[in-house]
Amino acid sequence: MSLSDRNVLVTGGAGFIGSHLTERLLADGASVTVVDNLSNGDRGRVPDDAGFLEADLTEPDALEGHLDDVDLVFHLAASKHVDTDRPHGQFDDNTRMTRNILEAMADAGITEIAYTSSSTVYGEAPRPTPEDYAPLEPISAYGASKLADEGLLSARAHSHDLSVWNFRFANVVGPRLRGAVIPDFIEKLRDDPETLTILGDGRQEKSYLYIEDCLDAMCHVVENADGAMNTYNLGTRTTTSVDRIAAIVADELDLEPAFEYTGGDRGWTGDVPKMRLSIEKLAALGWEPRRSSDEAVRQATRKIIEELR
Ligand code: NAD
Repeated sequence: MSLSDRNVLVTGGAGFIGSHLTERLLADGASVTVVDNLSNGDRGRVPDDAGFLEADLTEPDALEGHLDDVDLVFHLAASKHVDTDRPHGQFDDNTRMTRNILEAMADAGITEIAYTSSSTVYGEAPRPTPEDYAPLEPISAYGASKLADEGLLSARAHSHDLSVWNFRFANVVGPRLRGAVIPDFIEKLRDDPETLTILGDGRQEKSYLYIEDCLDAMCHVVENADGAMNTYNLGTRTTTSVDRIAAIVADELDLEPAFEYTGGDRGWTGDVPKMRLSIEKLAALGWEPRRSSDEAVRQATRKIIEELR
């Protein structure tokens, strides 16, 4: 299945990954409409040749009358941030969005959806974690919302005419990334070039995937996997520790700060300290990342330093 000449709806298309995906799909010859409530997105990132609908997807009627020409949905919209005043709010919002989108798609007769899940569905699993690892025991409301969404998608894929491409992402990095470890270190070092405070003990270790590799993998899976529920890990074969990220960021800024640690084995409650995904299933489908995890971090660091200059 080719993505050129498709009429695609990208939810969350004003966000980090969604805006890059929109550019990529347009370049490949698809027609794209973005829907986003701009809670964590930027209207300026949506290319002029994409349609744009500002709407809150937690509202049941958000897409009414807007799906007539759509034949494929890339569903990326999600709340990634925990609101401590509403502990279940993130779970409610993310699952409500996915349920609303599935209902709107069914009403409009759309039978294809690509969904952005996360490594967090695995919880603290042995590494490298394959797609058939069990039991799936997420340790955050965010991970729980991704797992619940996968369940909704699977149920519909196996009982209705729906094809699902379900991506379990590692940590995706690149230009436009905000609210994550790389831009956080850059901003901290701009404020204080002498000392960098690192959350946890610095030994947290995860797989980082560069945005271009991520988009290539997403398109490759949609174009080549043809089951009803196609679940794929998207990551690199290597990992990068938080200490190593700090060293790369300091190196790119030409600084030699002292590192201080807040302590403990993780950055925050619900953080999975060590994550690496098996990508053997993806490799068997004919795809390999072009960059290692360290290369992804360094390339993203350079781009984000330019953006924050
Ligand atoms: P992002 O926050 O930059 O993009 C998400 C977009 O969704 C934002 O533009 C936001 O405004 C929009 N949105 C949120 N709530 C909405 C609502 N109620 N209605 C309409 N739009 C809404 O995040 P991202 O990093 O680009 O992530 C995209 C997807 O990939 C998300 O589903 C995320 O959970 C998933 N993911 C990302 C990573 C990563 O490393 N960035 C890793 C695993 C999974």
